[in-house]
Amino acid sequence: MDRNAIEELRKVDVPPALHLIDGVRVAASDGGEMPVVSPIDGSVLTTMARGTAQDAAQAITAARQAFDDGRWSGMAPSARKVILLKWADLIDAHALELAVLGVRDNGTEISMALKAEPKSAAGTIRYYAEALDKIYGEIAPTARGTLGLVHKTPVGVVGAIVPWNFPLMIGAWKIGPALAAGCTVVLKPAETASLSFLRLAEVGLQAGLPKGVLNVVCGEGAIVGAAIAESPDVDVLVFTGSGATGRRLLQASARSNLKRVYLELGGKSPNIIFADAPDLDEAVAVSASGIFRNSGQVCIAGSRLLVERSIHDALVAKLKSMAEAMVVGDPLDPATQAGAVNSDQQLARNLAFIDEARAAGRDIVCGGTRILTDTGGYYMAPTIVAGVAQSDRIVQDEVFGPVVTVQAFDTEDEAIALANGTELGLAAGLWTSNLSRAHRMIARLRAGVVHVNTYGGSDMTVPLGGVGQSGNGHDKSLHAFDKFFDLKTAWIKL
Ligand code: ADP
Repeated sequence: MDRNAIEELRKVDVPPALHLIDGVRVAASDGGEMPVVSPIDGSVLTTMARGTAQDAAQAITAARQAFDDGRWSGMAPSARKVILLKWADLIDAHALELAVLGVRDNGTEISMALKAEPKSAAGTIRYYAEALDKIYGEIAPTARGTLGLVHKTPVGVVGAIVPWNFPLMIGAWKIGPALAAGCTVVLKPAETASLSFLRLAEVGLQAGLPKGVLNVVCGEGAIVGAAIAESPDVDVLVFTGSGATGRRLLQASARSNLKRVYLELGGKSPNIIFADAPDLDEAVAVSASGIFRNSGQVCIAGSRLLVERSIHDALVAKLKSMAEAMVVGDPLDPATQAGAVNSDQQLARNLAFIDEARAAGRDIVCGGTRILTDTGGYYMAPTIVAGVAQSDRIVQDEVFGPVVTVQAFDTEDEAIALANGTELGLAAGLWTSNLSRAHRMIARLRAGVVHVNTYGGSDMTVPLGGVGQSGNGHDKSLHAFDKFFDLKTAWIKL
């Protein structure tokens, strides 16, 4: 990683962030702005358009027009592919700039942001670009004298509302398959992480994305997000964020046009370590990364460690020494392992969980405090909380911070009861050398993804989606296309 280049980019002035509507950067219709605060040091980086419902409506109209006139959906798939591939290449060419801008905005450590943000977004757009002209309709096996055709048609205008932890990666998971399918998009980035996605969209225009095909409206969820969710002109809504917002989106759909709503609502993912794990040191090291990297601001973070009782105390001691050795701090330092918490609000929320656990007499094994306060930024020490009860809020609710709870178990049944004992079901981890046990556990764990003898790895070839209150629908893989195609049957008498 080029430290000098990062330091130069850190100093670049960030111009006021404007919406991207119909191919043009525009201010809010009422001129409203909001400050963009860097979690690195609490300084104001720039201002951002505080979008209005009118701005959202204007973007939706642009997307509707762009869809209906066929400038994108009517283009030959091979031509759409060329534009998307060029965009992916341009994102790669701008990777460091995009990563540093994003880190200044959201606080993720640069070592992770470089891999997980622009490169992943480029990879996602490339994946769907390569796939888009390999999708065929069907000829149904009907009786002679009739012809049944099943066309796959793009759904129309997609509303995408995304969170702040990985704005490019998660944004690309939504828009990649949507645009490849021929849909047009209005995306609302999170209040505290909009800058890099806006830049990514601008690079898309350079690649030849026709105007109006991808629109970005900044601002508050309750205003811009709500306007997208309520719009009768949005056909599909895709979302990653909190359960509370997910419920609002479903209600908005019910109140308006019954648009399809696909939700990824985070997790409270169990990471189960059996005494027969192939390598306990590796299990602890990977589990520590799986919860503490990006200060735990990862949907699939392994936030509940379940440990077989015979190794519980030794394992907690090892995890504690790793947590304490973790390099937390300046996210733009390539040596940093855990950057900033995204906002002062999120930090306060994390600490409130700890206060509650402490008040209930739980064992705060390490961390539990704000650190590096003199930087002005928002940092939290990696935190382990033991002696918790299954009903504790810190065990049931997603913290979205560098906080792991630890519980001991004796049997597989007990591990499953603890693991499945929350409303959420996004991911799970499992460490064992016993192949039969691994398969028994995979079958019983209530989760969209189960990691075995690793935690958190994946690539574009596999879907990601939750069960239970972690949501519905899948990002990544060819399955993600299902959200953006309608099936239209033509029944023809010959
Ligand atoms: P988080 O806890 O990750 O911030 P949120 O659900 O609040 O979760 O935010 C995720 C995204 O949802 C953000 O882009 C945010 O602006 C948006 N959002 C928040 N509230 C609403 C709402 N009432 N309607 C639509 N979008 C919203």
